[in-house]
Amino acid sequence: MKYYNLKDREEKIDFRTATIKGQGKNKGLFFPESIPPFKEDFIQNLNQYSDEEIAYQCMKDFIGNEIPSEILRKIVSETISFDIPLKKINDDISVLELFHGPTLAFKDIGAGFMSRCLSYFLENQQKKVTVLVATSGDTGGAVAHGFYDLPGIDVVILYPKNRVSPVQEKQLTALGKNIYALEVNGSFDDCQNLVKQAFSNEEINNQLFLTSANSINIARWLPQQIYYLLALKQWQQTENKAPVICVPSGNFGNICAGVLAHIRGLPTEHFIAACNANDVIPTYLETQDFNPKKAVATLSNAMDVGDPSNFVRILELFNNEFNPLKHKISGYSIDDSKTIQTISEVYKKEHYILEPHSAVAFSALEQYLKENPGKKGFILGTAHPVKFPEAVENAINTKIEIPLSLDTLMKKEKKTVEINPDFEELKRFLLDKN
Ligand SMILES: *Cc1c(COP(=O)(O)O)cnc(C)c1O
Repeated sequence: MKYYNLKDREEKIDFRTATIKGQGKNKGLFFPESIPPFKEDFIQNLNQYSDEEIAYQCMKDFIGNEIPSEILRKIVSETISFDIPLKKINDDISVLELFHGPTLAFKDIGAGFMSRCLSYFLENQQKKVTVLVATSGDTGGAVAHGFYDLPGIDVVILYPKNRVSPVQEKQLTALGKNIYALEVNGSFDDCQNLVKQAFSNEEINNQLFLTSANSINIARWLPQQIYYLLALKQWQQTENKAPVICVPSGNFGNICAGVLAHIRGLPTEHFIAACNANDVIPTYLETQDFNPKKAVATLSNAMDVGDPSNFVRILELFNNEFNPLKHKISGYSIDDSKTIQTISEVYKKEHYILEPHSAVAFSALEQYLKENPGKKGFILGTAHPVKFPEAVENAINTKIEIPLSLDTLMKKEKKTVEINPDFEELKRFLLDKN
């Protein structure tokens, strides 16, 4: 399979190069040259396949012979080596719990697949590789865990001081070994700017082999299709109509993977893009005007994105035609007070604890089902409530328990290097580390 750059269609590269490079010329995103359809027999009979086989079938056409099939099978089965249950919340709404992975975030799946592919591709590289990434919380932990203790790879994570939750911070800072955490006296945007400057700095690139692990990498985007298939396998056990699927969205990689799976043949009734106050896409779906904005801070902070980078891929999936897109995807914007109200109501009525991102999705799906009676669906549960304890505990008036699996981590010591949002400080760190 070849991938072309959405900003420069002449630039075509293979899976390996796209995984290593991340993005193309002019910061363009890569996109598969063809969309391989699922075999009808496979999609109709998902319950006859193991989860590992489903994951392998989902990914193999995108990789071709660039990774031998027995290694790809191992990579996909390690990537989904934890529970991904579809649970009923009430009669009409279920939740696909994507947060039972090593860092309790759905990003474990994309990051886990990508880190394994990257380390396979770089195995015989002489030079040490440095993965450089800025995080607002969840990305960093998932990436750190994915690359932890891999030979020949260092990971440098920049995060904004005092702006990630305690669990998130421990996941970034307590691993040690080849994982370096830089605590930046600034915002997430400052972190991202520093990373961008490093990627374009000649001196650094002459001395280090830098690569990124951000969410636009195809090796993080494509494996997210897998759990839509695993959800449908479970859905079909009790339901006979296709589901409405509601995805809490920020950069739109997650929902875009679902739409890709749908275009390949996965039966779905409808998609809902659930956003917080950052409503660029819901507005676009109303008005056809795409107006990126500066992000505003909300309780569902992993979705505080004002210019969603994966949206160009969704447009491409619909051949840049507005009407078919609007027909398949609806957008909702849910504010913080509605988010808190939803967490509180769902806890009271259904004894289910939502965290802010999943609550945005629950509220959006509830509205859609009210407007479209007779349908049912599920939300994607993208993070464990324990990663956002403040908002959740305020809403339900109860302390949430830290799961046993986090106990050891929370007792570990935090190790960071503090820097100012000053490129010279990052540069010195990177060059000295080497
Ligand atoms: C990253 C993230 C999202 C948004 O996913 P996108 O693919 O960027 O749309 C939603 N919820 C949580 C908890 C996240 O960490």
